[in-house]
Amino acid sequence: MSTIPVDISPAYEPAGYGGEGFFATSLDKVVGLARKNSLWPLPFATSCCGIEFMSTMSATYDFARFGAERLSFSPRQADLLMVMGTISKKLAPVLRQVYEQMAEPKWVLCMGACASSGGIFDTYSVLQGIDRIIPVDVYVPGCAPRPEQVLDGIMQIQKLAESESIRRRDSLEYKQMLSRYGIE
Ligand code: SF4
Repeated sequence: MSTIPVDISPAYEPAGYGGEGFFATSLDKVVGLARKNSLWPLPFATSCCGIEFMSTMSATYDFARFGAERLSFSPRQADLLMVMGTISKKLAPVLRQVYEQMAEPKWVLCMGACASSGGIFDTYSVLQGIDRIIPVDVYVPGCAPRPEQVLDGIMQIQKLAESESIRRRDSLEYKQMLSRYGIE
């Protein structure tokens, strides 16, 4: 019986120092690797961009490849807020409350023209961009963005999560940024 050689080397390993039977790296890199590959998105979908996101979740585009298939509809069990669709001024306080209820570390992905800038709805009732009320990490442009763009946005968030210092959230710079939004 022939045996098939199996390559058990990991697909990705952080920078470090290794030898026969051991591998050493820093805590930052291990935490970054874990965060990057286990994002729990909270889809805050209000209109057509949300439908495009559903397509991104489908088998064709397979969000699960990024370790992010576990959607959360509870802010306390999510670390990636994905805002997709038109946000009315009436809804803005709700979005802000959802953001505030998420534990650190957390990231925000803003999908589509409406969430980013109000889009075509330059009216009295529509918020002209969610960055007026909460900080945004990555913008995905388009109306509606294609699933490939959403995946690219997720990969940008992954890069942030992977490279972010585990102490960034305690930094003065981060606290000042939040305080500009009136968030303690
Ligand atoms: S950006 Fe376009 S597709 Fe997305 S919610 Fe607005 S109108 Fe709909």
